[in-house]
Amino acid sequence: MFGRPVDTVEKSSIEAVTIGARQVNSAYHRQVPVLGELGSATSSQLPSTSSSILIPLGSTEQHGPHLPLDTDTRIATAVARATAARLRAEQLPFAGQEWLVAPAIAYGASGEHQSFAGTISIGTQALTMLLVEYGRSAACWAQRLVFVNGHGGNVGALTRAVGLLRSEGRDAGWCACTSPGGDAHAGHTETSLLLHLSPEDVRTDRWRAGNRTPLAELLPSMRRGGVAAVSRTGVLGDPTTATAAAGRRIFAEMVDDCERRVARWRLRPDGMLT
Ligand SMILES: [Zn+2]
Repeated sequence: MFGRPVDTVEKSSIEAVTIGARQVNSAYHRQVPVLGELGSATSSQLPSTSSSILIPLGSTEQHGPHLPLDTDTRIATAVARATAARLRAEQLPFAGQEWLVAPAIAYGASGEHQSFAGTISIGTQALTMLLVEYGRSAACWAQRLVFVNGHGGNVGALTRAVGLLRSEGRDAGWCACTSPGGDAHAGHTETSLLLHLSPEDVRTDRWRAGNRTPLAELLPSMRRGGVAAVSRTGVLGDPTTATAAAGRRIFAEMVDDCERRVARWRLRPDGMLT
């Protein structure tokens, strides 16, 4: 035993460990897309994993004079990314499930904002068809699909489409980026979120308080004349009270809520995760 050169033993041990680590590592990277983004993964990375996807669903619509048109898409994408990261880290709903975030669907049903420049709405009927065909295609390889919705106007299409997908045996669901007590549109809630997520794109010099009447009271007028009938600036709520700190808190609540719903995986008949 003492006659055996110590350095040889150490060298061969190190080599074995190094080779082993390299083998494990390369196999790991072949099988598990740790990227988190579906668009960055390769097709060959997917079949060997139990892949599920979160799909941000937003809109392209006016958000007052101070927020970008893609506000809802940004919020849905950020919530989906943070939720996926948490689900991966905590191995929820079960170990081995790999959550990826798909490229966002950036157009929705925004007819109520149509009289403001920049709004591009595809309407409820087209959005429903889009979501159904999207789901049928993605479910060919993805185990579960979750639409993370950032725009209230999309809910009619979502419930119809996801309800149909589920009735066809596809494991789809949806959850919403909502905040209890939040205001309706481009007000305190959304402006705070954008101050947290992308402050460089919030034009605080242009923000003005909008119509602060509760949404339920505005709906009859809005059904007849859209948002323009109740707000000249397109704002429902008060963005001037928004802060990045409030946005951080609201964002954390949204991520907590989505993570809890996806982890539990209990669905209403229309596919909403409860
Ligand atoms: Zn919005």
